[in-house]
Amino acid sequence: MKKIISLLLACMCCMIFAVTAFAANPQIVVSEVTAERGDEIVITVSVKNNPGVSSMKLEVKYDTDVLEYKSSAISNNFGGVPATSESNGKVQLNWMLFGSDSTANGVFAEIKFKVKDTAIGGKSAVEVSYNPEDVCDKNMDNVAFETVNGGVTVNVPCQHTDTKIINAKEATCCEKGYTGDTYCNECKTVIAEGTEIAKNADNHVGGTEVKNAKEATCTEKGYTGDTHCKGCGAVVAKGSETAKNADNHVGGTEVKNAKEATCAEKGYTGDTCCKGCGAVVAKGSETAKNADNHVGGTEVKNAKEATCTEKGYTGDTHCKSCGVKLESGEEIAMLNHKGGKATCAEKAKCEVCGNEYGEVDADTHALKYETVKEPTCTEKGERKITCENGCGYEKSEEIEALGHDWGEWVTVKEATYDEKGLEERTCERTGCGEKETRETDKLVKPSKPQNPSNPSKPNPGVTEINPNEKDETNPNTGAAIRYGSVAGAAIILAAVVVISKNNKK
Ligand SMILES: [Zn+2]
Ligand SMILES: [Zn+2]
Ligand SMILES: [Zn+2]
Ligand SMILES: [Zn+2]
Ligand SMILES: [Zn+2]
Ligand SMILES: [Zn+2]
Ligand SMILES: [Zn+2]
Repeated sequence: MKKIISLLLACMCCMIFAVTAFAANPQIVVSEVTAERGDEIVITVSVKNNPGVSSMKLEVKYDTDVLEYKSSAISNNFGGVPATSESNGKVQLNWMLFGSDSTANGVFAEIKFKVKDTAIGGKSAVEVSYNPEDVCDKNMDNVAFETVNGGVTVNVPCQHTDTKIINAKEATCCEKGYTGDTYCNECKTVIAEGTEIAKNADNHVGGTEVKNAKEATCTEKGYTGDTHCKGCGAVVAKGSETAKNADNHVGGTEVKNAKEATCAEKGYTGDTCCKGCGAVVAKGSETAKNADNHVGGTEVKNAKEATCTEKGYTGDTHCKSCGVKLESGEEIAMLNHKGGKATCAEKAKCEVCGNEYGEVDADTHALKYETVKEPTCTEKGERKITCENGCGYEKSEEIEALGHDWGEWVTVKEATYDEKGLEERTCERTGCGEKETRETDKLVKPSKPQNPSNPSKPNPGVTEINPNEKDETNPNTGAAIRYGSVAGAAIILAAVVVISKNNKK
């Protein structure tokens, strides 16, 4: 504990000594001011920590290029006898206090200047100095002061003597330009702004590109293309036509004059020609004959038609060009004899060659018919068949009976309402005379009144009776009508008989 206290005490002693030592450091300080050209300024020379002096003789030096001396005065605070003078940039400050020391502090002297119009800007020092024996106390002992120089800082407006242009931009075909700002290197400020410059249609930047260039070909002239500004697209330079290029074939090629090799002639691969100009780009070459490529058609040789006596041949197929036999023909079978007709006596004779062929036909006779017995209406006849070729063929044949040749039926007895009639007919063939009879039906009594102008016509051959007319007791028919009908029917019947007779003739 005791140790800590003693340490603290020691530190406190040091601090007190330091403060005392600082306070005890006598100084003569020249003030610092800031001014502009033409300003009147006051530079002060002050005393600090004055230990006590009775005489001081100081010299204040300034730059005569910057400051023009006006006046100087030593402060009354210090009492004593002041005396000041100036010569060649040096101000003499003399002060003396008889018999005692002054311990005054603060402004000791004031020096008035005018800042020259031609002063260079910046800081200009004002320095204070003295000879050691010129600062003494009342005992004539030297008193030492530390001197602190001051001065004037002249703020001179920049004359902008060192400038440069910044932010300038050239006008191009696409963008406006800018004259640029004037920048002072000294004061680091822009002292004048620039102005915009209109676009310059002639100042193409950003490079160029060639458009519409066309290669010259074998058929068309080319074009070097127009040089365009990439920026604005304007044509900077027109291109020019270039001559046709006979070696630049375009549009493809085609093969001409190609010839296939055949059995008779060599072939040719053909010339490769430009489709555009037709020029031969590459000649073709000959190819060997192709023994398998027969062209120009074929022909058939040694063909022979078949006949009824000799075989034929379809003929061999030969190439017309080289004559080589391409295919053999085939035999054609002999033809059959044709035509003619075999009989029982002779073979058939071929119409083509005239030769007999085949066999005799035993069934083909030259027949001859002879009637041995004539047939009648009821009896068969007979005939004899022989071959006129003399082959000995002979045959007997019945002839069918002829049958009767009946005439018309003739009435033998008329039919009445009560009795049947009778008819007869006779065979009209000569020498026969055969007769035939048949009954005819009774007449039918009419059951309805008859229209005399259109009487119903009874059929003598009809056996069927109309059931409606069969009823004689029909209550709807009167007796008078019935008699009338009977009379009418008798007249009609008579007429029928007459017609029948006439028909027989
Ligand atoms: Zn400047
Ligand atoms: Zn352009
Ligand atoms: Zn061509
Ligand atoms: Zn051939
Ligand atoms: Zn024949
Ligand atoms: Zn015969
Ligand atoms: Zn007869």
